[in-house]
Amino acid sequence: MFRVPHAVDLPQGTRFRLFPQLPTREEQGEPETVWVSPPAGTVFAGPADARIYVIQPIGKEKPYGYYEEAGGQVIHYGPPWIGPIVPRAEPDREGHFDHIEFGTPQFLQAHAYGAIRFTLDIWQEYFGRGIGWHFDDSREKLEVVFLPGLDNAYAGYGSIEIGSFFTPAGNWVEFGLSFDVISHETGHLIIYGEVGLPDSDNIPGEHFGFHESSADMVSLISLMHFETALIGVLDASHGNLYSYNRLNRFAEVSDLDQLRLASNPLTLYDFVDGWVKEHDLAQPLTGALFDIWVDVFHEDLLRRGLIPAQLEDLSDQLEGDPSYHNVVQPLFDEAYGKNPEGFAACLADARDYMGRALAQCWSSLQPLQLDYAEVARAFLAADDQLNDGRFHRIITGNMERRGIGLVRAGPRLPSSAKDSHSFSKRAPEPGMQQHYRHLPYRTRIALQQRV
Ligand SMILES: [Zn+2]
Repeated sequence: MFRVPHAVDLPQGTRFRLFPQLPTREEQGEPETVWVSPPAGTVFAGPADARIYVIQPIGKEKPYGYYEEAGGQVIHYGPPWIGPIVPRAEPDREGHFDHIEFGTPQFLQAHAYGAIRFTLDIWQEYFGRGIGWHFDDSREKLEVVFLPGLDNAYAGYGSIEIGSFFTPAGNWVEFGLSFDVISHETGHLIIYGEVGLPDSDNIPGEHFGFHESSADMVSLISLMHFETALIGVLDASHGNLYSYNRLNRFAEVSDLDQLRLASNPLTLYDFVDGWVKEHDLAQPLTGALFDIWVDVFHEDLLRRGLIPAQLEDLSDQLEGDPSYHNVVQPLFDEAYGKNPEGFAACLADARDYMGRALAQCWSSLQPLQLDYAEVARAFLAADDQLNDGRFHRIITGNMERRGIGLVRAGPRLPSSAKDSHSFSKRAPEPGMQQHYRHLPYRTRIALQQRV
């Protein structure tokens, strides 16, 4: 396998082993060794560093969150956990954590820390600075905590709480081993820290979809920093990213469950009468961003002479046409075979363009007026700043094709389920929760595993 050129140089401090895809009983895959930024010797048993610590409690019965007591008073049950814990993951003599055996609780602890830290490192590079926690004023560090039986993972005020459960088919799912899930939760924390939480519940519904879409983009772009994932996508698609490949089923938690589709056909027109689930409402925005990424990648391939001009034209003309695959795929096969390294460099560049543009876009958003049209405007402004507006046509075209800037999502419609996630009652600062008490919540059905 060749090396992927990195436009973004991540600091090489301490080594961890991470699974790009959640291992299943059928397909365990190989964990990939990654480096995270804290220098070897500064990550202590836990793992724990200056901003994050992992603990695996014994006897913790319920998730952190806001609970209503008998008298109607709402209390915040949150970190730190002060009860007994499972023995912590220990560094080796040089300070690294890549020696820990898979299958042990300590591997799980190290994996969860590594996934959060790796994600944070990547996005701090894109932001060009440190990213604060939204709870920095009252808590110094993020507590990463495990709760067996919680069929999900949640980012809350001062914590990421990670569950695990048996599927009805009898498979044990550890969300701590899912890079996608952990990275997605870290994405919510990045958005809480960078965009902020509105101090009113009178906000556009699209804000909820934005949160889910952004967490997905954080996770997807971070995933593409694994050499095996980036090259795996290219090997499977030969650069034809609209084809069915790992990029657009990145969130699967097993070979059978295909979850969020980054490449999806939904538009805002599908939601003008209203919406129920923020994960669904997220799809038009995620789809537009995915299409922008693919177009930027193709444009770059063309500019570097790696695909012929007629392939790009054909690809545009035949999009959505049943003959698309048969006509376009052989041309991609031939072009990719000539220069796979060049394709990898272009995909890494397009990935880093998206990361930097999104970081710039998110930095300028205000939580109170946040809707998709505003995101599109901020993304165009980011392209002006980073890129002299070179991709304006691509950005505007893809946003408009999804109805963004043309129509708005309707109201949130009642649902029979009870829990919410992207904007959960766990996230706000204690004392602010009265603003969120009336939000409906959606129970995440274990089989859906949409996190
Ligand atoms: Zn989420």
